[in-house]
Parts: sequence; C-alpha cells; structure tokens
Amino acid sequence: MSDTKHHVPYNEEEIDGYVKIDRYNSDKISRIAAHYEDILQALGEEPGREGLQKTPERVAKALQYLTHGYDLDPAEVLRTAMFKEDYSQMVVVKDIEVFSMCEHHMLPFFGKAHVAYIPNGHIVGLSKIPRVVDIYARRLQVQERLTNEIRDCIQQTLKPAGVAVVIECKHLCMSMRGVQKQNSVTTTSAFTGEFANDKTRAEFLRLITASLD
Ligand SMILES: [Zn+2]
Repeated sequence: MSDTKHHVPYNEEEIDGYVKIDRYNSDKISRIAAHYEDILQALGEEPGREGLQKTPERVAKALQYLTHGYDLDPAEVLRTAMFKEDYSQMVVVKDIEVFSMCEHHMLPFFGKAHVAYIPNGHIVGLSKIPRVVDIYARRLQVQERLTNEIRDCIQQTLKPAGVAVVIECKHLCMSMRGVQKQNSVTTTSAFTGEFANDKTRAEFLRLITASLD
C-alpha cells in the first residue's frame, strides 16, 4: 500500500542461494528505537552498556518486520492469482505456519492454520493462501480476529461456495506469565457457506487431522 514506497532496502545478503531482503522505514525505526531506550532505562538497565547499545534499533527493526502485514493487501495477493476453473471439490491447505503477536501483551503467539475452500468458478494459486495467512498474522492480533479476517478475505475475494479456517496456537502471554496451563493450545475456527453443513465440516476436520503416513 501507500506506505511501501517510503521503505528503502536495508540489506540484501545471499543465504544458501536465496536473497534475504530486509526493508524498513528509517523514520519509524528511529522513533521506536528512542522509546526503547527509555524502556530499557525504566526497567533498570543501562542502555549504554555494550550488549544493549544497538538493542533499541534491533528491537525497532524486529517489531517493524513482525508487523509488516499492515503494508500489504491480502485481497490483492489473491486477485493476482485467480483462475477460472470448473473444479468444485474442497481444496485444503493445511499446516500453514503462523507467527503473530497478541495485541494485549505484544508477545508472540504461534502455531498452525488450516484453510479450505470449495471453488465456485475460480481457484487460486495454492501459495497465495499461506500468504494471506501471513499478511494478517504480521499485525497485532487476537487469534479470533485473525481467523475471521482470513475467512472473510477469501470469501469476499474468491467468492467460493464456502471457506473454512481452523487455527491452533500457543500464546506466550499465557505460557510465560505464570498461567498454569503452560502447554495449552488455543483453537479457533470460522466457516462460511457450505461448511455450515455438518457433513462438509466433518470432512474438512477429517482431512486436516489425517496424516500422510
Ligand atoms: Zn496476550
């Protein structure tokens, strides 16, 4: 979106044959970094000591990366790879990695998303579904809204006969903050159209729990 043009390439390095590109907005980085120097001081640290000298800037860059989904348009990503096709059976993309941050504590939550849709004249390039998940996940989120946003984006853009989204995540704000159930996983789900049908939904749940072995 509009903000992207202010981003300048920060560093490009080749790692194992692929190019890692970090982009950041330098105004944003220095603003966030200045606050983190204050935060370090408030925590009783000495921001000037060797190990912390570059920490505010690193944190600012990490935060900008972890929220870069604000600058991207998931519907546009889908629209670039939609194809007319008669196929009308359920398409399932499972075990999509999710890395997000809860908006209440700004701590990570992470796990897996499983997405299905039933085409209604159009299919979409399979790699675009994980892209949509990632774009919404790379914002401050709650898992419930993340689940609904993915569903709504696919429903409104692709207009399929139905969409199903299941997300299973561990929340560090639960496991790091002394809550007893440290290994608990939160599951959320959202459905539209034909997935309101018990049989269709059961088929989807069977497919995402089945293993390939
Ligand atoms: Zn939280």
